[in-house]
Amino acid sequence: MFCESCGNQLPENAKFCTACGATTGRTQAETAQPAYTPPSSPPPQTAYIHNTAPAQPSYAPAAALDTPLGVGQYIGMFFLLAVPILNIVLLFKWAFGKSANLNKKNFARASLILSAIALIFWILAGGAIMEIFDGMMGGYYY
Ligand SMILES: [Zn+2]
Repeated sequence: MFCESCGNQLPENAKFCTACGATTGRTQAETAQPAYTPPSSPPPQTAYIHNTAPAQPSYAPAAALDTPLGVGQYIGMFFLLAVPILNIVLLFKWAFGKSANLNKKNFARASLILSAIALIFWILAGGAIMEIFDGMMGGYYY
């Protein structure tokens, strides 16, 4: 037989190589421990990792729309809203658009609600005023 590590020729039942001192294949086989490998159970951690991992990325895109508006942005916004027809278009765009900043979006929604209330109020008030005028005219004419 030959040594497995250095190739030196050895007697058949040698336990160690005389040249390099390595144990021979025969003694390894004889002294080898019974092949008992503990049953490798799959690690249960993967289940927990899957529960917690996907929660984070969903917050990231929303955070960008949460940033406070600067003073310049507010000034620009009020200038744009001073333009008669453009302001209504912009308010609707900001209120219902997906890309608008949340502050701008909420501001636009609040403005739209207030203008709707104001509009209803003026229609009702206008009707009431017209009735008063009608009554006054009627009083004079009849
Ligand atoms: Zn050897």
